[in-house]
Amino acid sequence: MPLVAIVGRPNVGKSTLFNRFTQTHLAIVDDTAGTTRDRQYGQCDWNGRTFSVVDTGGWVINSDDVFEEEIRKQVNIAIEEADIILFVVDVRSGLSDLDSEVAHVLRQSKRPVLLVTNKMDSFEMQYAEAEFYSLGLGDPISISAANGTGTGDLLDKVVERLKDFPDAEATDDIPRFAVVGRPNVGKSSIINAFIGEDRHIVTDIAGTTRDSIYTRYDKFGFDFYLVDTAGIRKKSKVEEDLEFYSVMRSIRAIENSDVCVLMIDATRGLESQDLNIAGLVQRNQKGLVVVVNKWDLIEDRSNTVMKNYENAIRSRLAPFTDFPIIFTSAINKQRIMKVLESAKEVYMHRKFRVSTGKLNAEMLPLIESFPPPSNKGKYIKIKYCTQLEGPIVPTFIFFANLPQYVKEPYKRFLENKIREKWNFCGTPINIFIRQK
Ligand code: GDP
Ligand code: GDP
Repeated sequence: MPLVAIVGRPNVGKSTLFNRFTQTHLAIVDDTAGTTRDRQYGQCDWNGRTFSVVDTGGWVINSDDVFEEEIRKQVNIAIEEADIILFVVDVRSGLSDLDSEVAHVLRQSKRPVLLVTNKMDSFEMQYAEAEFYSLGLGDPISISAANGTGTGDLLDKVVERLKDFPDAEATDDIPRFAVVGRPNVGKSSIINAFIGEDRHIVTDIAGTTRDSIYTRYDKFGFDFYLVDTAGIRKKSKVEEDLEFYSVMRSIRAIENSDVCVLMIDATRGLESQDLNIAGLVQRNQKGLVVVVNKWDLIEDRSNTVMKNYENAIRSRLAPFTDFPIIFTSAINKQRIMKVLESAKEVYMHRKFRVSTGKLNAEMLPLIESFPPPSNKGKYIKIKYCTQLEGPIVPTFIFFANLPQYVKEPYKRFLENKIREKWNFCGTPINIFIRQK
């Protein structure tokens, strides 16, 4: 999926624009629109085209006193990672030195840039737009992110540019694995361990948007694609500490995968950066295998310590807790095969389908014994359930007389029971309640 990055200095309206873009998508696809909103990363549908949007400002906590250096870094990362850059400026406050600096960096890059002049709330503002021509980034596109004026035209222009980025996908039945995690957790090391020295590459599928994204490996009895991004291969050490950096670099790999191997560093435990990447995996509904790497550096490697470590990880990632956790040493090649095995299993679990007969035979008696709590004296009855065919993620529909009264905790109860009866380890499950 193509990636569009919104850059610009603080307070120009990046997040307002981001919200406009991503709302179009949530309204269509998200069953619980509004509950999982995030200002950093989302998806946008426009005229049948879907793309990801990143708001670079979303990583800056106090955007008013952000250092210029920080913005410059973010622009550079956006140039490296995004397919199209929307450079937002504020016509009300006028052209600033920082705008000119950012424009300079953008002009030197090869990325397509759209210059967006925001806060054009009224036609009188038009005179103010003229000075932005001097940025040398072409005609400004006037919008008011706040009231929506011009944002449709802007989206048209984005989609127009996206014509150069075909939405090609691997369609064969071979799992696509992505290794994700903070810098220095050992991603390159484990990838090298997976593919060995002789790099037994079968084919390279031309990348969907840039470079080559999938590389197919046929090794040790496994046949899989490793989803690689430009980022994993040519890593620059400069921006390592920047959380934004590792997130930007993970997005594309996650989107293009079936199962993500999330690596964490045993000596550091689960940190907020790791949680953010785990969140991206979950939001994209990908399979998950957690790998605790550098286990060789832990002195006490007893089962008790391992168990405690496992429990700590699961409680941090709750409510999703049903995934494999593997303790590895990438440099000693310890339990490397186990990682591939687990990823393969998770891939199979995503495809597993329970027959409608078996599903009802197991679930209906349970539901009978523990029915959804009645609401305002209304009795709620679930009559029937089925697992949909086709979706990439196991999806179960429960038919009820009053679906709107079946709440989240009860859905979780249903999900847990399904997970107890059948093995869906590592994959998210969708539960929908529908009218019957
Ligand atoms: P960011 O820091 O670049 O993400 O900027 P925000 O999206 O947080 O917006 C900064 C301020 O500008 C907020 O008070 C917004 O309400 C306001 N703003 C955003 N877009 C517009 C617009 O089109 N017109 C006007 N008048 N204000 C806007
Ligand atoms: P990446 O940035 O996530 O790709 O991490 P690298 O694979 O480049 O590893 C970062 C550093 O951690 C390197 O110095 C590796 O040698 C080291 N490293 C990776 N895996 C292990 C491991 O399992 N044990 C130990 N002790 N060091 C490791």
